[in-house]
Amino acid sequence: MQIAVYPGSFDPITNGHIDIIERTAQIFDRVVVAVAINEEKLPVFTVEERVEIIRDAIRHVPNVEVDQFAGLLVDFMRQQQSNVVVRGLRAISDFEYEFQMAQMNKQLYPQMETLFMMTQPEHGYLSSRIVKEIARFGGQVDQMVPGVVATQLKEKLQTG
Ligand code: ADP
Repeated sequence: MQIAVYPGSFDPITNGHIDIIERTAQIFDRVVVAVAINEEKLPVFTVEERVEIIRDAIRHVPNVEVDQFAGLLVDFMRQQQSNVVVRGLRAISDFEYEFQMAQMNKQLYPQMETLFMMTQPEHGYLSSRIVKEIARFGGQVDQMVPGVVATQLKEKLQTG
């Protein structure tokens, strides 16, 4: 049984993330989407909200589950009995950070493999940060995120 872990902040999940999850689920027996607890990033959604939203948004993919983790990713991977982490890549700007993380994780857990999946061209410009910025100024994000995210972003970020 091949299990892949797809970790991230997912604050909030976008259609770019969903696409990576769907494609990963076609390759692996099981995919664990792992929401990182990192209060330093001052998230808009709580970890519990993010987990609930992702569960709702990926209901149509049976071999995916959603969990949360604090601390080191390698410890969570060991707990899940997985040595494959999947990360999405958009632009070259993602690469430097991802390369550093992958090498560091390999130091900490030599069996760990980091696989990179290219974004679909139509999602290449999408990021959680940009979606929040658009929503904050009252712009339409319905084409970029699942419906439940668009609704909740409006409630949380639009003032007045
Ligand atoms: P983190 O804070 O760990 O970078 P994110 O939630 O921003 O978490 O992203 C999680 C993963 O999804 C990262 O590997 C990121 O590169 C990838 N990702 C984010 N947006 C997209 C997208 N539009 N297309 C493909 N991959 C993406």
